[in-house]
Amino acid sequence: MPGPETAGTLHVVATPIGNLDDLSPRAQRILREVDAVCAEDTRHSRQLLAHFGIATPLLALHEHNEEQLAGRLVARLQGGDALALVSDAGTPLVSDPGYRLVRAARRAGVRVSPVPGPSALVAALSVAGLASDRFVFEGFLPAKAAARRERLAGLAAEPRTLIFYESSHRIADTLDDMRASFGGGRPAVLARELTKLFETVLDGSLDQLAAALAADPNQRRGEFVVLVEGAGDAADARLAHGRRVYALLAAHLPPSTAARLAAELSGAPRKALYGQEPA
Ligand code: SAM
Repeated sequence: MPGPETAGTLHVVATPIGNLDDLSPRAQRILREVDAVCAEDTRHSRQLLAHFGIATPLLALHEHNEEQLAGRLVARLQGGDALALVSDAGTPLVSDPGYRLVRAARRAGVRVSPVPGPSALVAALSVAGLASDRFVFEGFLPAKAAARRERLAGLAAEPRTLIFYESSHRIADTLDDMRASFGGGRPAVLARELTKLFETVLDGSLDQLAAALAADPNQRRGEFVVLVEGAGDAADARLAHGRRVYALLAAHLPPSTAARLAAELSGAPRKALYGQEPA
């Protein structure tokens, strides 16, 4: 039965990203008390709830039916029902469904209340050791190579720490594209399988991280957060050095070869060196 804290409220509840002990006592209580839990994948969330002995009914709410169901769910909330929204892992709405329902509820004047908890984004940032006062979350990059490279090229001069989500089958290609756009010398962190058995946090240059993954197939398994240092003084210095090297090499070599070698020697992005005079 919904208590006074929960009645007529949409509770947005964070769930574990691996370690089930990360489901907070308050999250457990809310999930037990609400009338229904809206879940991205009901079979997946059923297992989570069963682990905690919670038998609350589940409703499937995913990107394909969210718009259509939102009105009906808001009507239930307005009628006094308490609902929870969860996703498969971590915080709903963070690269996960939910914003349409939350928007509809807020527009209807329904109380929307967070039950904060795990999110891979913040967990990774908290252990990366990169500047964390300002950061940019880019979620998943486009799956198609051309679109992915274009997105990355647009981020090459971004001074804030960059954070991406990535899956095991694209991580190697993504690192290669990042090396081309940001330069292989750009410091980065790979946070893999956080809170799980094979949790690994690797740091180094993008070149070093790509090499580490190439050398060990186990390092390509699982779920990843990729964090990249923002373009700053260090990136500017690499670029200036790369342009000087390029200018020297371009006097003797074709521009494409000169740019490739200058990028390799300096860690600056190859595309930024082409046809450039030294700074
Ligand atoms: N809503 C979730 C959150 O708050 O973190 C993210 C959902 S998104 C569909 C799934 C992606 O999050 C994965 O592909 C991976 O990039 C990242 N992720 C989720 N769990 C992770 C973990 N335990 N370790 C590293 N990355 C993880």
